[in-house]
Amino acid sequence: MINRGVLKGLVTKSTGSWYQVLGEDNQRYECRIKGKFRIKGIKTTNPIAVGDRVTIEPEQEEGYAVITTLEPRKNYIIRRSINLSKQTQIIGANLDQALLVVTLASPPTSMGFIDRFLVTAEAYSIPAVLVFNKLDLFSAEGLEILQDYKSVYTKIGYTCLEVSALEGTNLTSLHELLQDKISLVSGHSGVGKSTLINALIPDISLRTGQISSWSDKGKHTTTFAEMLELPFGGSLIDTPGIRELGVVDIEPQELSHFFPEMRALMNQCRFNNCRHINEPGCAVIDAVEQQHIDASRYESYLSIYHNEDSRN
Ligand code: GDP
Ligand code: ZN
Repeated sequence: MINRGVLKGLVTKSTGSWYQVLGEDNQRYECRIKGKFRIKGIKTTNPIAVGDRVTIEPEQEEGYAVITTLEPRKNYIIRRSINLSKQTQIIGANLDQALLVVTLASPPTSMGFIDRFLVTAEAYSIPAVLVFNKLDLFSAEGLEILQDYKSVYTKIGYTCLEVSALEGTNLTSLHELLQDKISLVSGHSGVGKSTLINALIPDISLRTGQISSWSDKGKHTTTFAEMLELPFGGSLIDTPGIRELGVVDIEPQELSHFFPEMRALMNQCRFNNCRHINEPGCAVIDAVEQQHIDASRYESYLSIYHNEDSRN
């Protein structure tokens, strides 16, 4: 008898009832959970998420194990389920950065959508990166618009990169950005997320967990995130079926903390509880008027603010 004992591992797939773990022995295990893993005050459909570091105990049957402990998380991103009230899904844990793949045409990603994503990343203290795809489609005029977008977001401090997943343009810069990191990848359908992932991971066997029976393990597999290994080191957390991370649990009063350019002016408003909407002596409104803060960013702020208000 070989005593395989207890192993450390990394969760690479999570359906809520089954988990796939890459053990430190480089084997993949199909796992169940033993014990309770709860985030205080939150009811989650999957208590363990992709990116989690765990301990597993292999079972008699080859390739199967039980997750027994969870290491503390550096961070995590959750989203509230639309159909199940109060049910929350943990999309990923221990993320180094969150990438949003966007396109300025076919289909265009709105600045409002970009800003919601950035607010979510700020709320979770996860560095965000904007990847502008389909560079090959840009006309001279399109390239100017791209520069405008890039300058708005670069000025605030976000990393921006333009690529063509189709033609492989600038993928080396993307490699450098992704290397040895755990990166969440999001984007509207049609922006070229799959094409980009395929370009980064040409070896298809790395893309899937290679467990043939996996699809039987949970009906919701496709809506859960999955971790893909990058051949040059690091991994991507793909979020199929997740259209929007959503701005969860942000009080309208706190929203400006998640706009870095507004956060920087916070102490300069006349009122310390300034909402930056119509208050006299508001440093944010002044900055918008003087074009130090981009008008479309401020519009996004108002739009998110009012949605949140009506929701509460
Ligand atoms: P996803 O829904 O984000 O996964 O998008 P896909 O990867 O399926 O791509 C959607 C469409 O955009 C496909 O027809 C791709 O061939 C096309 N596409 C993806 N990347 C590029 C690109 O860099 N340039 C161009 N011209 N088309 C692209
Ligand atoms: Zn103000």
